[in-house]
Amino acid sequence: MPDSRLLPAPLQNLMTALNRLPGIGKRTAERLALALLEWPETQLQSLGDDLIHLRQRIRPCHQCGNYAETELCAICRNPHRQKTTICVVETAQQIGVIESSESYRGLYHVLGGKLSPLNGKGPQDLRLPELRSRLQSEEISELIIATSPDVDGEATAHFLAQEFADFPLTISRIAAGIPAGADLSYADAATLSLALSGRRKIN
Ligand code: ZN
Repeated sequence: MPDSRLLPAPLQNLMTALNRLPGIGKRTAERLALALLEWPETQLQSLGDDLIHLRQRIRPCHQCGNYAETELCAICRNPHRQKTTICVVETAQQIGVIESSESYRGLYHVLGGKLSPLNGKGPQDLRLPELRSRLQSEEISELIIATSPDVDGEATAHFLAQEFADFPLTISRIAAGIPAGADLSYADAATLSLALSGRRKIN
C-alpha cells in the first residue's frame, strides 16, 4: 500500500471522502480509491453522474418519506401493495431492510428518527402531522410500529400508541427477536420476518 501523502490530490481527496463513509477505514478507503482508478472511463463517468443526482433527483416520498425520484416512491405507487397497513420506521434505510425480508406487503411511514430526550429529539422533530393526516385520509386498519428495540424506540412506540389512540385501528409492535438495543438497520431478513409475524397489539 503506497503512502497516501505521495499520491496525486484527486486520489487523496477521493480517499478522504470514502473514509467518511460508515464502516470504511483508511486502508479500505485507499483500496477502494485505487480500485476505482482501474475502472474504465465510462463507468467512472456513470458513477459520477449518480453521485451528482443523489441530491438533485432523490427526495423524500411525498406520502411516506421513503427515497423517491418522483412525487411518490415505488412502494406508494405500487397498486399491489396492501393499502390498509402502515409500518412505521425510523429511517428510509430501514424500509429496504424490511423489504428484503419479503414478509411485508403494506405501506410505510418514515418518522425521521425516534424520540430521544438525551439527544434533544422530541415529537416536533418527527413526521407525526404527516402520519396523522394519512390516518385521516387513507383507510388504514393497522399501524405496525417497527422502531428499534432500544429504550428510545420503545418509548417512541408507546408514545405513538397514545398519540393515535383516537383512531379506529389496531396499533401493533414488532416482536422481540431482534436483540434488545440492536439497530433494526442491521437485522437479518429471517429475524425481521419473525419480528413482523409475531407482532403484538399495544393499544
Ligand atoms: Zn412512499
